[in-house]
Amino acid sequence: MTLRGKTALVTGSTSGVGLGVAHALAAEGANIMLNGFGDAEVIRGIQRDLASQYGVDVDYDDVDLMHVDGPGTLVEATHSRFGSLDVLVNNAGIQHVAPVETFPTAKWDAIIALNLTAVFLGMRAAIPIMKGQGWGRIINIASAHGLVASSHKVAYVAAKHGVVGATKVAAIEVANDNITVNAICPGWVLTPLVEQQLEERARTTGADIAEESNALLAEKQPMLQFTSPDAIGTLAVYLCSDAARTVTGSPISIDGGWVAQ
Ligand code: NAD
Repeated sequence: MTLRGKTALVTGSTSGVGLGVAHALAAEGANIMLNGFGDAEVIRGIQRDLASQYGVDVDYDDVDLMHVDGPGTLVEATHSRFGSLDVLVNNAGIQHVAPVETFPTAKWDAIIALNLTAVFLGMRAAIPIMKGQGWGRIINIASAHGLVASSHKVAYVAAKHGVVGATKVAAIEVANDNITVNAICPGWVLTPLVEQQLEERARTTGADIAEESNALLAEKQPMLQFTSPDAIGTLAVYLCSDAARTVTGSPISIDGGWVAQ
C-alpha cells in the first residue's frame, strides 16, 4: 500500500469519477475526505463502505465549491481533521450544453466557478501545506475537452483548457518542492454527468439510450467503449507513486484515442 497514513481530499467524490478515484486511493491506504452533494444516507453508506473495505479513516464535507471561499475552507477542514493533506484531487465539475449564441451567462459563470476557479483556489490553499510537509500530489481532472473542443460546450471547454494551463503553471512553481501537479484528461466516462447528456439526446432523437451511447462514442472516440471511473482511479494512484515523481505539468489522456485524431 503506497499511501498508508496519507490524506487524500477528492472533490466531487459522492458520484462518478471522484468516487472511483476515492476508492482507488483508499485501496492504497489513504485516509479520505469526501466532498460533493447527494442523498445523506447514500453518502453515509459510501463513507462506511470505504472505511470497512480498506481500513482507512473517511470523513465527508458538503461545502459548495462554487462559492469563492469553498475550496480554501475544504482544504483547511481536511488538514485540521486528518493532520495532513498529501493528495488533492480537484474533480468536481458540471456541464451545460448550448450554442454560444444562446449560452446563458449564469451557466457560464457557474461552470467557470466550479470547473476552473475552484481548481485554482484548491491548489492555492493546498500548496503551502504540501510545501510544509515536503511532499504532495495534485491531480486535476480536466478532460479531452482540455485539449480539443466540441460544439455547444463553450464554458466547459474554456474551463478545461484553463485547468490544463493552471496545472502547468503550478507544476513549474513547485517543481523542486517534491510536489507534482498533473491533469488527467478522460474521454467519455459513463457517469451521471454523461447519462444526463444521453437522456437529453434520446429525448431529442427518439432513439434509445443504448443507441445514443454508441452514437456518442462513435462521434469522438476511435475506441467504442467508455473509460471506467476505476481506471481513472488507477491512473491517479500511479501519479501518487514514487515511479511518477518526475511526471509533472502533464495533461495525461485516457480517452480511447479521442485526441489522437
Ligand atoms: P458526476 O456528475 O457524476 O459527479 C460530479 C461530482 O461533483 C458529484 O459528486 C457532485 O455532487 C459534485 N459537485 C457538483 N457540484 C458541486 C459543487 N458546487 N461543489 C462541490 N461538489 C459538487 O460527474 P463526473 O462525470 O464524475 O465528473 C467528474 C469530473 O470528471 C468533472 O470535472 C468532469 O468534467 C470530468 N470528466 C468527466 C467525463 C465524463 O465523461 N463523465 C469526461 C471527462 C472529464
